[in-house]
Amino acid sequence: MKEVNKTNGLRKIYDLLFAYYGPQGWWPLESRAETGNYDAGGYHKADYTVPHSAQQKFEVILGAVLTQNTSWTNVSRALHALLRERCNLPEHILDLAENKLADLVRPSGYYNQKAKKLKHIAAAFTEKRWLCDGTAPSRKELLALWGVGEETADSILLYAFGRCFFVVDAYTRRLLTRMGVVEKKANYTIIRNLFHKQIKSRYSLYNEFHALIVQHAKIHCRKKPLCTGCPLARVCDTKI
Ligand code: SF4
Repeated sequence: MKEVNKTNGLRKIYDLLFAYYGPQGWWPLESRAETGNYDAGGYHKADYTVPHSAQQKFEVILGAVLTQNTSWTNVSRALHALLRERCNLPEHILDLAENKLADLVRPSGYYNQKAKKLKHIAAAFTEKRWLCDGTAPSRKELLALWGVGEETADSILLYAFGRCFFVVDAYTRRLLTRMGVVEKKANYTIIRNLFHKQIKSRYSLYNEFHALIVQHAKIHCRKKPLCTGCPLARVCDTKI
């Protein structure tokens, strides 16, 4: 019998990836890099208490928007520029002129559009006081914001607010398709529901699993897969 299938396979995939790569320390906080338990990239392996403050939560939110359609290296440069200007709360984003904000986030690409999105998000977070006193937006409220799609909303809910919403990205779809767990045409909701059904609703699991998939997509399950030595090879349909 196939070891990984549509009804039981995700936990097996998680266990194999975690055994191979170990804890990933997401979501990275650039502002904390090389302090305490944070490494040079701001990753905090096996510490699931992060983020601790409104500023740190907002840094995750900034990263979740800036990472749309670009690599983390570019996001990191944009975040550094924002942090240098002490922009780590919604009111700071609102105080900046939009063209200045666009200039700061330029390294992340689509900078005019991203500046607009950040303004919208900062306005909503300020108005609804979502970072104050433990309040958080609902998924529906986030999706109603211009520039926030499902992946961004779930990234914010999971990594900024510790809510168990699984984040599905292009890497997740590619991996699960290659492994024969989902069909190519499976949409975001179908894939997300599969995770919600098979993976115990625990923050540390949701946090690590998405991060492990991203890591795996960079090391082995790349655009052109490197199947030799892949920790999932024995349970994968596609190995080359
Ligand atoms: S065996 Fe190849 S296709 Fe399958 S998960 Fe590993 S790298 Fe991807």
